[in-house]
Amino acid sequence: MSAPVTAGPSGRLLRAAWVCPIDQPPLRDGWVHVVDGRIAAVGAGHDAPAAAEVEDLGAAVILPGLVNAHTHLELSWLRGQVPPSGDFLAWVGQLMALRTSFERSDDPAVMTPVADAVAEMRASGTVAVGDIANALVTPAVLADAGMPAVVFHELMGFGVTDGAPVVARAVARHAPLESRQVRIVPAPHAPFSVSEALFTAIRDVVRAAPRPLTSVHVGESPAEVELLRSGQGPWRERLAALGVWRDEWQAPGRGPADYLCDLGVIAAGTLVVHGVQLTDAELARLAATDATLVTCPRSNVWVGVGAPPLARFLASGVRLAVGTDSLASAPDLNLFAELQAMRDLAPDAPARRLLAAATLGGAEALGLDAELGTIAPGKRAALIAVTLPAGVADPEAALLGGIAPAAVRVLEMAGYHGGRP
Ligand SMILES: [Zn+2]
Repeated sequence: MSAPVTAGPSGRLLRAAWVCPIDQPPLRDGWVHVVDGRIAAVGAGHDAPAAAEVEDLGAAVILPGLVNAHTHLELSWLRGQVPPSGDFLAWVGQLMALRTSFERSDDPAVMTPVADAVAEMRASGTVAVGDIANALVTPAVLADAGMPAVVFHELMGFGVTDGAPVVARAVARHAPLESRQVRIVPAPHAPFSVSEALFTAIRDVVRAAPRPLTSVHVGESPAEVELLRSGQGPWRERLAALGVWRDEWQAPGRGPADYLCDLGVIAAGTLVVHGVQLTDAELARLAATDATLVTCPRSNVWVGVGAPPLARFLASGVRLAVGTDSLASAPDLNLFAELQAMRDLAPDAPARRLLAAATLGGAEALGLDAELGTIAPGKRAALIAVTLPAGVADPEAALLGGIAPAAVRVLEMAGYHGGRP
């Protein structure tokens, strides 16, 4: 009776059997109050605020939308075309052979699968993405779709001896494509495809930004570790066959994470993708530098480098995020399937720790955690609901059991148009 006369109940109250905010334990009979596209309050039971609209989702769990921290949307046209392999270099060879047929970036054969992939990600509960791009065809698609994203403009060049002009040209090319929705940053591909001169030039541009952000593939295959430690092995042979081997190249004589931490390429704001072959000492170093390790378990198996040592990742204390990788090395872009693979690899890991990697961990890695990643007051209401069987006692564990897109509902809020702060 003391409510202001002019302002009646506002916003929308979402109720469900469970709410999983991620930054606190699950709330049974939970509710989320959304006003103007933002979370006003979250709680449980009957003390919910009055709202203009109330929706009860029943036997479902409401959780923050997922963040896919590593994919290559422009490879979506390769879906199902590069079969799983037990040999990483053989797999890469197949991929490269197919990619040479990728001539025109505006070809519908490329662009339609990109748009379909973004729609597929959203339908399976993803609300933000870290996307690796070479042809830069994805920023416009992501912006049109209202999908907040960081696009990592990937640079390669094992033979580059003067990196600064290469990076300057890349920035000049991608800067006009940025939008409120899509941040674009330069990113080195991997230690076997990027010279030290190119690595340091990218580092210098990345570190000059107010909030440094970049991504690099690290420690994916044993051959990469062999190349860096000894200068020998299958990658040397492949680089020579490709005509880019440099006889004056000196192996760093260290593992890939040590090499890139020493160069300052891996630091706070770096997404270190894969890490399958890293030592415990390297993982500890990543944790100390505040980098984020992005695991892509299904892709790792697909390309023949083996399952990631997820229990060791978790034990190291490193910041962890999750990616599907591209449709060239994964059957779909459903991050819930990635979570299921993670649960299988680390069955004793707390369910919330794994869910946090696929929500808050990804949001933090992409610099979007002020807006996304948990259900907390002030954040954007980029929420999803997953239908669960009635009577589920541990909703967080249930979310790791494999969730089909049909069970996912994206709760599009009035006033929510995505975008970064
Ligand atoms: Zn990748």
